[in-house]
Amino acid sequence: MEIIENIASMHALSERKRMEGKLIGFVPTMGFLHEGHLSLIREAKKLSDMVIVSIFVNPTQFKPNEDYDKYPRDLEGDTKKVNSAGGDIIFAPSARDMYPDGYLTYVNVEGITETLCGISRPGHFRGVTTVVTKLFNIVKPHKAFFGQKDYQQSVIIKKMVRDLNMDIDIILLPTVREHDGLAMSSRNSFLSTEERKVAPVLYRALIMASEMVKNGEKNTRKIYSEMKRMIENESLVVIDYIAITDPENLRDISVIEGKTLIALAVRIGDTRLIDNILTEPQGS
Ligand code: AMP
Repeated sequence: MEIIENIASMHALSERKRMEGKLIGFVPTMGFLHEGHLSLIREAKKLSDMVIVSIFVNPTQFKPNEDYDKYPRDLEGDTKKVNSAGGDIIFAPSARDMYPDGYLTYVNVEGITETLCGISRPGHFRGVTTVVTKLFNIVKPHKAFFGQKDYQQSVIIKKMVRDLNMDIDIILLPTVREHDGLAMSSRNSFLSTEERKVAPVLYRALIMASEMVKNGEKNTRKIYSEMKRMIENESLVVIDYIAITDPENLRDISVIEGKTLIALAVRIGDTRLIDNILTEPQGS
């Protein structure tokens, strides 16, 4: 397995593979890989001839007071994991090469970026769509694989790909969880033992909400307050948002009629965690 740091080399390799008729699968990540990332790599392997995994902690998607500097990094460990999951190439550019002095160009999807995580992280998705566009241009994949864990991100990327006529299939795969339901995340490594103990309340609240929907509860205010009560019962957890929305346009809904996204973000100590579930009334 090869690690490529240089953008021109990555360009050239992808171009060569395309000329050979190879189908390129791409898994963009920020590294510190876990089973969630590896599930994307394994699926990419099944659906493409070669799998490129990018590892890049993207500075433009972090606000100044966020955790860019302390975001966990472990290229050596990641290399072994990518290899064991069947990845062929790691693309790990430097921030300096991705955003050289004088860099001025950004990609912005409107509307759906300003809700949910966009409220407490203004500019975050502009950083995401910019880096994903750059990575798509460098890696030139046929298919790119994303996790449902970052559901809003996947909706935004699909919209960007459609709006900008990018010739790339976006494939969304399920969230991989720890045995107690906590969604795997590189940020889980920040949690203290006490914080880790309370973290599964996110998924418990989502499951409870989904059961309410399946059992016919249509009033989102009731679901919201049950979730809020369950989460606030855990003293270390502070709610950023709980949202019950249309999974396509991410607009809040007040009466549940069909497919519904329930998404939340919380802070546990200094760590921000997100999770979501897709649900719908039984028999709809
Ligand atoms: P990140 O390294 O956090 O930027 O994530 C890279 C990709 O892995 C994104 O498409 C995420 O949605 C996906 N991902 C992160 N955590 C999980 C998980 N627990 N299960 C499935 N996919 C995940």
